[in-house]
Amino acid sequence: MPRKSSLRLILLSILTLAISSIALGDGETSPARDPKQPIDEAYTVKIRKYTTAPYFSSPLVDYLPASKTVPTPEVVLGDVAGAPGILPYAEDVYKYMRLLEKATPRVKVVSIGTTEEGREMIAVAVSSEANLKNLEQNRQRLAKLADPRSIHLDDAEADKLVAESVPVYYITGTIHSPETGAPTALMELAYRLAVDESPYVREIRDGVITLITPVVEVDGRDRMVDLYKWHLAHPKDFYPPLIYWGKYVAHDNNRDAMGMTLKLTQNVLNTFLSWNAQVLHDLHESVPYLYDNTVGDGPYNAWVDPILVDEWQIIGNRNVADMTKFGMPGVFTHGDFDTWSPGYLMFLGAMHNGISRLYETFGNGGADTRERTLQPDEYARTWFKPNPPFPKALWSQRNNNNYEETGLLTSLHFFSENNHLFLKNFYLKGKRSIQKPAAEGPTAYVLSADDPRASVQADLLRIMLKQHVEISRATSAFQVALPVKKEKKSAKPADPDEKPKPPAPTTRDFPAGSYVIRMDQPYSRVADALLDYQYWSPEDPQTTPYDDTGWTFGELFGVQVARVTDPKVLSVPMERVTELRPFGGVKGDGGIFAIDNHAEPALATLRYRLKDATIDAAEEPFDAGGHKFSRGAFLIRGVSRSDLDAAAKTLGLQVVALAAAPGVKTHPVRAPRIAYVHTWISTQSEGWWRLAFDNLQIPYDYMSTQALAKIPDLNAKYDAIVFPPVTGNTNSNLIVQGTPTSWGNPLPWMNTPETPNLVGKNDSTPDMRPGLGWDGLANLQNFVRNGGVLLTALDTSQFAVATGMANGVSFTNSEKMKIVGSIVGTRLVDAASPIAYGYDEKVSAYCDNGPIFSVTNIIGGRRRRLGPAMTSRPTGRGTKDDPDFVVGRPASEIPDEPEKELWEAPQPTDEQRFNNPRVIPPASRARVILRYADSKDLLISGLVENGNEIAQHPAVLDVPNGTGHVVLFSINPVYRGETESTYSLVLNTLLNFDNLNAGRKDADQK
Ligand SMILES: [Zn+2]
Repeated sequence: MPRKSSLRLILLSILTLAISSIALGDGETSPARDPKQPIDEAYTVKIRKYTTAPYFSSPLVDYLPASKTVPTPEVVLGDVAGAPGILPYAEDVYKYMRLLEKATPRVKVVSIGTTEEGREMIAVAVSSEANLKNLEQNRQRLAKLADPRSIHLDDAEADKLVAESVPVYYITGTIHSPETGAPTALMELAYRLAVDESPYVREIRDGVITLITPVVEVDGRDRMVDLYKWHLAHPKDFYPPLIYWGKYVAHDNNRDAMGMTLKLTQNVLNTFLSWNAQVLHDLHESVPYLYDNTVGDGPYNAWVDPILVDEWQIIGNRNVADMTKFGMPGVFTHGDFDTWSPGYLMFLGAMHNGISRLYETFGNGGADTRERTLQPDEYARTWFKPNPPFPKALWSQRNNNNYEETGLLTSLHFFSENNHLFLKNFYLKGKRSIQKPAAEGPTAYVLSADDPRASVQADLLRIMLKQHVEISRATSAFQVALPVKKEKKSAKPADPDEKPKPPAPTTRDFPAGSYVIRMDQPYSRVADALLDYQYWSPEDPQTTPYDDTGWTFGELFGVQVARVTDPKVLSVPMERVTELRPFGGVKGDGGIFAIDNHAEPALATLRYRLKDATIDAAEEPFDAGGHKFSRGAFLIRGVSRSDLDAAAKTLGLQVVALAAAPGVKTHPVRAPRIAYVHTWISTQSEGWWRLAFDNLQIPYDYMSTQALAKIPDLNAKYDAIVFPPVTGNTNSNLIVQGTPTSWGNPLPWMNTPETPNLVGKNDSTPDMRPGLGWDGLANLQNFVRNGGVLLTALDTSQFAVATGMANGVSFTNSEKMKIVGSIVGTRLVDAASPIAYGYDEKVSAYCDNGPIFSVTNIIGGRRRRLGPAMTSRPTGRGTKDDPDFVVGRPASEIPDEPEKELWEAPQPTDEQRFNNPRVIPPASRARVILRYADSKDLLISGLVENGNEIAQHPAVLDVPNGTGHVVLFSINPVYRGETESTYSLVLNTLLNFDNLNAGRKDADQK
């Protein structure tokens, strides 16, 4: 690293925006233009015109160098980058990048894949002619540094490679579609990097390969540009909010770096790794004026290499220092963003031995220049923000572009100055990942070949492959030693009644074919981070976790994952696996086919795929053909063995052919006709559900609450209505009423000449404002009463309760409880319910603070009980356990209170029953399928604080209503492609829609 101690920066004439001349110490290059290179006068004048105050610019971007051969962004934009009123479509951005590629050997454009809606994603490499000419040789050198096994962890060899290599700095723009500034900033940045002959930019060009994906969320970008154009055409109207970004998810597209479900995540990771990039720098725009959240706040992710933590500090602090010296206000790096969750796009860099970075600059959600007023916490001067933003300022897209480009240019320059340091670190992080078994451990994760959920296990492992984690399969059975658990010293003397515990097993056997994820590989950290457990202390100084606190994939997938510390596992004979093909197909002889039920979502896919087959579900466990089958096992008839075999093979389901039908009570499993409902309020949470349904190939009619309101007889068309969460905490009134229509203008979501991209493969409406409405609510209520099944979760469950569709259920929100995107324990209450088919007694589930449901058998009765009931005797005669007396009256027996668990509804007493039409008859009472675990067993992974508020309360409820059912979820069973364990709670509800009462025990009680 060059010496920095003698650095003396004196800024001159910043405020006049004249070209700054900066006095520098030894070895420093002036961040200023080359006076010998002419500037593009007209372009430069406009840059200054659109910058609202001189201090919102820097000597790096307050001019544009001229070129006779290379076109400026103006040729495509019609104005300069960041000009008011101009937002280019992705296609225009690509057009410009390809013009650059044609005009200069310093730019190369590559296609990196397509989006869900088929739009192209690109990456643009900018570097010196020599660097781009030698791209492939450089890539090969970087590949060796990326996988130090290839050079036998030889540091001397690594040093040689480092000296010869040029690092790759990957910048990604506009993943969040309403954050609109990055594409123009990146167009201009590419131009500057290709054209500017100042020593400062030349050093970047020679020392770094800058790789740019100008638009990450391409589908969402084009919709956002449409909306902005609509706004320009109707300047006095409210314009529609961006309800759909990508095909499936909105803001959460930046929370997919664990599940890897979206094309954009896969394309960015594949690009990052195939270029062997060192940095992944993602651009966002929601904080004034530039928050480099690289440094952020604690807690830091526990699995990243401390070398990376050091890099965050070095780069982040230097970035702030450089921009502070330019006199740019509002640049800071510490803040309240914790770096715990690895779910952000940038974190793909952190988890793959690179450096993750993220900017929040300040965008206007379009290209209007606006007076912006900040919140006190935004403009307050703090220890980490000594030069805060102004409380009020006129702000333009150009300002935003100035900040984005200046930050990136100073970062790139710092990176090029120190490229050997960062390349060496890149190698070291890879090396230390490989040395993980001997260093901090574990040695491997093992997923056993005898896991009953083979198809789900395969899905989990497929995510590991998308993460570029190496997976192997043991070719023989093996045994590992288990770590010795330290006995906790008990303060209390040993209880003589307590039975001695059986000794804990000291070894574990795995059959041949078990999957081994070795930790002596370059990307061991991402596997470790996803498969390990998380603990977020309730005492952590960070009181507002930024995102999920727990994500342990084995728990969320319901798959056994063994964390192995025994080094012997690494010498088990094994072979690499590049494709997951779990064993599936038909075995045995006979004309009836049985599939055991282990809550595999593939069962639902099979039901829809075998349209004409007769499928029944066993209502009790049974033995047949030498196998044990559990409740919910499928019995299949009316399909050829070969058709079933083919389907089962692709789905990884094991089928047993039986000579005769087992004598077990069954009911039909039919493929319901599904209406899938969304609101025009938000499609964020439902998008994840839709993605899961599509991946499972479960057909549905996708409709808004508005459309539902226009179908008076829903039962004629549908058997089940799925109403996934809106935001998780949307008010029921908003779902019914929508946005007020008594003022304002209609908010159309339709394709028009101004908005040709708005409606992708989703939905449309002439006015987004109306909600379900009272007619829609009546339709929904009639649908349930007449035998339909309505499935709801979180806020839509609250909606079902609030609108009287779920008798006997009440809810409260948490008071002091903090379960922030954690994995919690739940327990099966009613294993005979079809909703529970295939599940074990303990189910781990994703929970984000409730809601907290309670059940009662009297309408309008019982809310959540806080604390223990009063069980101690009042003050009176006798000892603590003696009965009291009343003087002058015979003794009386105190009637026993019926004992009930917290998740159960108390039986109505005789007093309550007397002449009370509000007592719910037994057959209409809520049936609790799953409840939250006891307080001490609630936390599986993440943060659980004051969990007693929700402990033992119902987690999944089946509430009869007329001849139909409302099924309520307090957990979110379908979330970010990460919760496959709980998908079948939803799918079981659907497949058993007309037999949900199967196994009900209390229906004939009084
Ligand atoms: Zn953002």
